[in-house]
Amino acid sequence: MTIFAFTHETLASRIHFGSGSVEDVSDEIARLGAERVLLIVSRSARRAAGRVSAALGGRLAAGVSEVRVHVPVALAEAAVRCAADVSADALVTVGGGSATGLGKAVAVRTGLPLVAVPTTYAGSECTPVYGVTGEHKETGRDARAQPAAVCYDPELTVGLPPRATAASGFNAMAHCVEAVGRDRPDPVAVLHAAAALPLLADALRRLAGWPDDLAARSDALYGAYLAGTALAAAGTGAHHRLCHVLGGDLGLPHADVHAALLPYTVALRPAAERDRIGRALGTDDPVAALRDLAAATGAPTSLAEAGMARDDAERVAGPAYGALLGIPGSTARPVDPATVRALLDDAYHGRRPA
Ligand code: NAD
Repeated sequence: MTIFAFTHETLASRIHFGSGSVEDVSDEIARLGAERVLLIVSRSARRAAGRVSAALGGRLAAGVSEVRVHVPVALAEAAVRCAADVSADALVTVGGGSATGLGKAVAVRTGLPLVAVPTTYAGSECTPVYGVTGEHKETGRDARAQPAAVCYDPELTVGLPPRATAASGFNAMAHCVEAVGRDRPDPVAVLHAAAALPLLADALRRLAGWPDDLAARSDALYGAYLAGTALAAAGTGAHHRLCHVLGGDLGLPHADVHAALLPYTVALRPAAERDRIGRALGTDDPVAALRDLAAATGAPTSLAEAGMARDDAERVAGPAYGALLGIPGSTARPVDPATVRALLDDAYHGRRPA
């Protein structure tokens, strides 16, 4: 790879990684000098949250357990009110990208520091990007959304169901694909992405056979961390834009859409870029490799499996085409409306990408 001039932003988060690191939340809160924590927890993470509550002891001021995907603005405002009511001086989130996202929305509105404990492979905890959904989903980049610390505890991911595990792993791999797929890539992001891709692929295969394999959970979570840092540095491109249209406009599950679309958006890329993605995955046919991996791990292999209705392909074809136009820094092939329609149709049926 040629190294061009680049600007790489290093994000100031402290990272704790390993079994039991959920307990480190307490030290991080102490380091921040905080004494009144608002704990934001997704329903599935209640057991993990119990460990955090115990570790926080008297510094736990209140909890918020209503978490929904894409952060509805009403929930963000209710959480901000709750933070004010209890005079919170720090936020802790425990859960997937939706819980982290709610914490980020509160952090941006209040300026409170955030400690994140992720339980999926979404990677949101690595980025200063936040999103809130009113009539439409709006996203922004704000340093206040960047967690001050992240505790990656693979034990907390053991209960993630097999399909969610595979789909969320594909979400992480999609971050890597975008980092590699730039006309002038950030070499640090590429380094992280190229390390994460084979690690994630291998861990997902092992987890498909044995979901309780803590070593494989650890590899997958480390891959997700690297993928998240690649996303933070490289930003999003054609693939993510398409996923946001489908996820946002049709309300489809975020990770499922990533898994179902990734082989199709890789197929859309120029040959040089596909080769780079293939080299990182150890294959000369990354499209086939990603399809095989999805089939082998139980990730959705079509938009129909991700929950899209047949008529929806036509409905989102226009916005999807718009999303693929003029993406800065991306070398995605120029597309026309007919190509986008064909992509959505193929992806709906799970046919081999053109
Ligand atoms: P999610 O947080 O909605 O979790 C998916 C489902 O899995 C939920 O039902 C959740 O309760 C359950 N779950 C989570 N962890 C579990 C566990 N360990 N065991 C059992 N069940 C568990 O989904 P997600 O895919 O993690 O995150 C998606 C959201 O994150 C989207 O809104 C997306 O836009 C956002 N996101 C943001 C960024 C960013 O940089 N801002 C990056 C990636 C994703």
